[in-house]
Amino acid sequence: MLLVNKPFLPGKLEYSKLIESIWDNFWLTNQGPLVKELESKLKSHLGVQNVHYVSNGTLALNLAIKALDLKGEIITTPFSFVATTTSVIWENCNPVYVDILPDTLCINPNKIEAAITEETSAILATHVYGIPCDVEKIEQIAKKHNLKVIYDAAHAFGVQYKGKSILSYGDISTISFHATKVFHTVEGGGIVNNLGPEIDDKIKLLRNFGFEGEDYQLVGINAKNSEFHAAMGLANLNYIESNLEKRKYLFRKYNEILGNAIERPAIRNEVKYNYPYYPIIFKSENELLRIKSELEYREIQSRRYFTPSLNELPYVTYKKCPLSESYSKRVLCLPFYADLKEEDALKIGSIVKELLQ
Ligand SMILES: *Cc1c(COP(=O)(O)O)cnc(C)c1O
Repeated sequence: MLLVNKPFLPGKLEYSKLIESIWDNFWLTNQGPLVKELESKLKSHLGVQNVHYVSNGTLALNLAIKALDLKGEIITTPFSFVATTTSVIWENCNPVYVDILPDTLCINPNKIEAAITEETSAILATHVYGIPCDVEKIEQIAKKHNLKVIYDAAHAFGVQYKGKSILSYGDISTISFHATKVFHTVEGGGIVNNLGPEIDDKIKLLRNFGFEGEDYQLVGINAKNSEFHAAMGLANLNYIESNLEKRKYLFRKYNEILGNAIERPAIRNEVKYNYPYYPIIFKSENELLRIKSELEYREIQSRRYFTPSLNELPYVTYKKCPLSESYSKRVLCLPFYADLKEEDALKIGSIVKELLQ
């Protein structure tokens, strides 16, 4: 079976070298030296003010909402992974959905203002498939209405917009380092805070049960990550540039072979992209289902990512989002990862093209 995603692994020896020190100093978790090294390397690699390393990208979202003390309604995108919505509900806020743009599949900034009420405290938007939201318009609206902005940048490791890391936009950006993401630490996540030291301190407290030393200040949680996870990140950082190059190459191969045969999300101008997935958009759900099963028959896995549209989840207040509902029924991700063989990408691309005719 050709997998839709295959996690990247560094050399075994390279990883074991990195974890050797753990047997010398018995420091396994709780902001150990490898975690600190990873945080500092990520900070300079990404060119951001800080990266708070946490257990996963979902807790990163929870901590972001908590650190900003958000209440009431949070305007959010219906086209994302389920964690974007569940983190809002988990933090006792209500998700209010605003439909997406048909080209980038990110939240439609022109529809945000109509959804703002007295209760609105923030906008939580996803740079879906690593494609930046319209960060300028969103910032303008947020300033005007005194709202906070959080970006779920789980897909956006290494993405730059106008020469700056996309993580440096918004009040807080969160990222996932899950095994299936462009850069991973097996499990893991990061919080990039753009609001200054007070919020940095709060995030550090929240990550560690809400206390420091003997000072119990806040209701926190355990969102720390281990030395073993950090070591995987340090090893994988050595490969990130070459992996991004490979992804870019394969992405272009797919594009070349599929040509105009199928719709794809549009990457905005002035974006340095990171090629995290290869989503294609069918004309109908039936066409998607037909081709997905034809691919399976040929031992090629594909993934419906994302479905359902989050406004249709059984535990949220339904609000109609026609575009998100339509796209979520029609989008399919083809096998895509740095070590995918070129010949496999070409084969998959030509099979899909043939099946479309
Ligand atoms: C992967 C992902 C998350 C959650 O990250 P985990 O590290 O798996 O908890 C959140 N949002 C989006 C958009 C994701 O793709």
